[in-house]
Amino acid sequence: MSSLPNCPKCSSEYTYEDGLLFVCPVCAYEWTAESETNSLEDEKVIKDSNGNVLTDGDTVSVIKDLKVKGTSSVIKIGTKVKNIRLVGGDHDIDCKIDGFGAMKLKSEFVKKV
Ligand SMILES: [Zn+2]
Repeated sequence: MSSLPNCPKCSSEYTYEDGLLFVCPVCAYEWTAESETNSLEDEKVIKDSNGNVLTDGDTVSVIKDLKVKGTSSVIKIGTKVKNIRLVGGDHDIDCKIDGFGAMKLKSEFVKKV
């Protein structure tokens, strides 16, 4: 008896193996065994607006005025952001900005200091 993993997307148990891939016929999701452990995504390289590679703990500065979602505040161009933390997703930098608190930024709007 083979034990196939349930679909990570819709949790269906009707999955099957197709070579190196697992396939879910219910939602058409395909994945590989390795992607089950999401550790590989930590390897993703995140670059600033100049193409410099960013790492956790870097200090960056903001290259354009950024509106803070849900408020009337604006993070001014040139604002220094210390000790950034890289995360996945659309806004790939997690940080704290003096006077604003915890927030997420896009790497394309910052440059390494
Ligand atoms: Zn599925």
